[in-house]
Amino acid sequence: MKLYNTMSKKKEEFEPLEKGKVKMYVCGPTVYNLIHIGNARPMIVFDTVRRYFEYKGYEVNFVSNFTDVDDKIIKKANEEGVSADEISRRFIAECKKDMEAMNVRAATVHPLATEEIGGMVEMICTLIEKGYAYEKNGTVYYRTRKFQDYGKLSHKNLDDLRSGNRSLLVTGEEEKEDPLDFVLWKPKKEGEPAWESPWGEGRPGWHIECSEMSKKYLGEQIDIHAGGEDLIFPHHENEIAQSEAANGKEFAKYWLHNGFLNIDNRKMSKSLGNFFTVRDISEKYDLQVLRFFMLSAHYRSPLNFSGELMEAAKNGLDRILTAAGNLRFLMGNASVRDMDAGEEEMLAKTQEYVDSFEKAMEDDFNTADAAAAVFELVKYANTTADGGRSKAYLQGLLDLLVKLTGVLGIIVEEKEELLDADIEALIAERQAARKEKNFARADEIRNELLEKGIILKDTREGVQWKRA
Ligand code: AMP
Ligand code: ZN
Repeated sequence: MKLYNTMSKKKEEFEPLEKGKVKMYVCGPTVYNLIHIGNARPMIVFDTVRRYFEYKGYEVNFVSNFTDVDDKIIKKANEEGVSADEISRRFIAECKKDMEAMNVRAATVHPLATEEIGGMVEMICTLIEKGYAYEKNGTVYYRTRKFQDYGKLSHKNLDDLRSGNRSLLVTGEEEKEDPLDFVLWKPKKEGEPAWESPWGEGRPGWHIECSEMSKKYLGEQIDIHAGGEDLIFPHHENEIAQSEAANGKEFAKYWLHNGFLNIDNRKMSKSLGNFFTVRDISEKYDLQVLRFFMLSAHYRSPLNFSGELMEAAKNGLDRILTAAGNLRFLMGNASVRDMDAGEEEMLAKTQEYVDSFEKAMEDDFNTADAAAAVFELVKYANTTADGGRSKAYLQGLLDLLVKLTGVLGIIVEEKEELLDADIEALIAERQAARKEKNFARADEIRNELLEKGIILKDTREGVQWKRA
């Protein structure tokens, strides 16, 4: 399996640190608002990467944090007159709802920065002891120049950075030894959440959070560290400087970064009025469509979001879902017998599609080509499945479709069947609604049941029902 490593700027063969295992850390969102569709891209992309590793038989330890202490969270809390904690809790819960609707699996662990402060303080102490950090008036800074390899991920040269970037010197930080030094710990300001530390009350800088949480949950060395490309510099560069100086080891073997999502070919921004949350999109589309759209491009390419492209994704997804529905329908009436020789041969031929699917995914997770292989399989299923086929053959096709779409995180299985008791309860509720002349609710229930394949018949003896 080849993956593109931002560090070497090359596709490299994946070799796990430990046989059969993948340790993976993905920088998560700062939780002060509903997530936007740009935030959804790394979630969907790296969830798919995780699924492919699992498909290949790896055990994946997948850690993704929530940054729950940050200037933006504090600002929002002050605006609303509530605690920062209340804001972050609210938006973590909302984020998890969106993740579920996009079929992004929960991480093995979702650490919260505010629950890991002790470890961060310890790591900062180690950095001070080793001469990589210093304190000035309650602020602790990282001594960037001391880390020989600084710039190796973003391929930046320290001297260029220094001469070209005066803005690195933020007001109030004149006490820094060097403009390149960055903050590990900042002292408490009035009205801000703060924790005890050897340098007085305060809170950690953003970069140290990930270094610590990655170490705590995955160990000093990990296989993959990932996030959006805007995180390469300075966030990931600083994480490397911190972790490698503190632990004396290479931090991550492979650095994966997704390209940005633009809208109508422009940067998404609130001020341009082209800003969409995942929740906005869910009003118009099933979020599986958003997921399928995200996977229609290679994860490193910039991706343009537009109504037209979403419609194209919807049509593509519908083709897959219709094929799966058709297979299930045919299976309902198919003869239960062993496959005949012709069917055996036809089913064996589907290996071709599995091979092209895997070939695409092995090439730095080319989900666009992998989806093309799924469409080929759909075409094959549509042309070879009919009422004369054995149930076993149809099942074989459906199983394969479920397996490949499952790697992409697309669900083609039917929604769970209603139990008889649930149906009876809904019918009783409908009868009660009719009695109260609430015909809108009564119709709603009839339609809800119909969508799930339950047909109602009103008779003199009462309501009869059957499964379609
Ligand atoms: P943030 O909450 O800004 O730290 O972002 C969380 C994740 O979303 C990071 O991995 C970002 O790189 C990523 N991200 C933010 N905006 C976009 C965008 N427009 N396109 C793709 N990824 C993005
Ligand atoms: Zn991070």
